[in-house]
Amino acid sequence: MPTSTPPPLSSWARNIAPSPTLAVDAKAKALAAAGEDVCSFAAGEPDFDTPQHIKDGCAAALQAGKTKYVATSGIEELRRAIAESYGSVYGLKVLPGQVVVSPGGKFSCYLAVLAVCSPGDEVVIPAPYWVSYPEMVKLAGAVPKIVLASDRSGFKLTAGQLEAAVTPRTRLVIINSPSNPTGAVYSRAELEALMAVAERRNLYVLSDEIYEHLVYDGLKQTCLATLGKGAEERTIVASGFSKSYSMTGWRLGTIVAPPPIAKAVAELQSQTASNATTFAQYGALAALRQGEKTRVALEKMLAAFDRRRRTLHARLTAIPGVSCLLAQGAFYLFPNISSFGLGSLEFCERLLEKEKVAVVPGAAFGAEGHVRMSYATSDETIEKGVARLAAFCARLKA
Ligand SMILES: *Cc1c(COP(=O)(O)O)cnc(C)c1O
Repeated sequence: MPTSTPPPLSSWARNIAPSPTLAVDAKAKALAAAGEDVCSFAAGEPDFDTPQHIKDGCAAALQAGKTKYVATSGIEELRRAIAESYGSVYGLKVLPGQVVVSPGGKFSCYLAVLAVCSPGDEVVIPAPYWVSYPEMVKLAGAVPKIVLASDRSGFKLTAGQLEAAVTPRTRLVIINSPSNPTGAVYSRAELEALMAVAERRNLYVLSDEIYEHLVYDGLKQTCLATLGKGAEERTIVASGFSKSYSMTGWRLGTIVAPPPIAKAVAELQSQTASNATTFAQYGALAALRQGEKTRVALEKMLAAFDRRRRTLHARLTAIPGVSCLLAQGAFYLFPNISSFGLGSLEFCERLLEKEKVAVVPGAAFGAEGHVRMSYATSDETIEKGVARLAAFCARLKA
């Protein structure tokens, strides 16, 4: 028998870019494990524990034997509680049949893309973008159309930019407010202008609102589906429990969508992942049912994030050559480091090597000249890490 090398992997496997944010985080953790004193701003998750009453809800369900398959879209009580919360928080009338609970917000977004995009369709993605959007669009056989929204426009896509990017093949635009990686929050008026374009050009809108509860300065989150009848018919709101409730490892994401889209998402999920972990869903149910306890935990986390946001911003803007917008949501700042004349990748590699400070290159988010810094880390790390960053920048300028 002649031996032959096995055939190549698929084009999906060969063309996917691994998550660069997880890669930097892994490198920083490896250095720390080797005994280095690393200051990491690379984390993409809250540094708080999941609130106790949520864990208790899950543990009780586990003990009670809630360990079997349930409805693909999620347990009925949870879908009803999610639908009701959209009513109480945003005044949006949502039926449980419009809600699908998935294994993580990332998977929710991916299924939403699969539900509305066919191969060859175009998807408008504003940059800086969350690293997974272009990859999930490509995995659907669709084509990402990246449009740069720079710091001069507050990292926000304008209606004019959207209009100019739309072609007859455009099916979907992805909006992420508050944003990862910039922390930018769109105003209601800005979203209305974008929605007007989406309606005129007949696009679907995927509104990734996973950071919906993490907004500062007394700002109010606008849920895109609340912008009128036309918005309701074409908007898929993605969210989940990961960021607001410090539940990243639980893997619980949600979509709220018009009934035909919710049905499609549920069917896609039924043949790929089935239901999100059953007992985890009972933890999420406790988060919504014991709203007062959840609110207290969230307020505590928000106060800490807000304090760190201001500290990080003040320290960064005091560094000659660095400029930075004071973003109003999520837990990231996205400083501009273009004055140092290094690519963002090289900047980050040298910073980690010389000063043991981990930040994520803007190039990973489609925005050269920037780095992403997460302030979901201790106040001490922020002070120490930015002092090292300042020393690094001073040497680059010298
Ligand atoms: C974290 C995140 C998600 C969802 O994360 P999961 O851990 O899969 O729930 C979705 N969108 C953005 C922009 C995020 O940063």
